[in-house]
Amino acid sequence: MHLINVHSHGFRDAVPCGRASARARRRNCNVQISHLHPVFGQAFPSMAMSTNRLENLQNPPSGPRILIIEDEAPMRTVLKDILQTEGYRVLTAADGEAGLAAALTEKPELILLDIMLPKLDGFALGAQLRSLEVTIPILMLTAKDRIEDRVTGLDSGADDYLVKPFSTDELLARVRALLRRTRRQARLATALDLGDIHIDLVRQTARRGRKPMYLTAREFAILRLLAEAGGEPVTRDRFLDVVWGYTAFPTTRTVDNHIAALRAKIEVDPKDPRWIRTVHGVGYRLEV
Ligand code: CA
Repeated sequence: MHLINVHSHGFRDAVPCGRASARARRRNCNVQISHLHPVFGQAFPSMAMSTNRLENLQNPPSGPRILIIEDEAPMRTVLKDILQTEGYRVLTAADGEAGLAAALTEKPELILLDIMLPKLDGFALGAQLRSLEVTIPILMLTAKDRIEDRVTGLDSGADDYLVKPFSTDELLARVRALLRRTRRQARLATALDLGDIHIDLVRQTARRGRKPMYLTAREFAILRLLAEAGGEPVTRDRFLDVVWGYTAFPTTRTVDNHIAALRAKIEVDPKDPRWIRTVHGVGYRLEV
């Protein structure tokens, strides 16, 4: 099993670095690492520009968004690489203040939070998010495995704990578990109000004002999926998986046709939809 325990001195030990100053040595090593390891080669140049900068990554375009708040660049890079490989969209911040700002503005679905951080430590950051009633799940990462740190972390709003070094499998399992928990909670939101339209997703009834509306079971399923995404885009493939299931063989055009029919029912102007927005090249999202 591959354990992740990345520290800068570890990399210095791992590659021949010459006898220059610590800073020059690090720089030399980064260059060497970039030759040795394509993943690190991508990540180190941005680190060299600014470690405090929030790095917004463009790809892959689907999957839940995870914010990594970690000041140690090698660890940040490893986490980012692992999560991106699994299809998550990754945002990173290198100190507590940048992390808090990113959490509030980007509203990721999960936060990986280091404890020992410059400017604002992980405990304070977690507590601040919870005091603002931000309920994004927090997976705290720490090199410490002392019991009091776990207690402090959980008291300050962390949902789970991961002690460095940890395995890739363990990290991913905990990430999946936390995301599942959030999704279950999201499912509790069982009604949708779109202007004067009220949709009961449990009873599968809908009305405009007091007048009943007829929606098909599939249209309710489409709306439920959109509602569960909380404003995030839902891909056509995801619609096919969830609404049509794996056994059917519809095409993505099927999704588009059903969305068009649904828009005709719920939108004032189906050509300029207010509620179900097209996300070009991706799918659809609900604007509520
Ligand atoms: Ca740290």
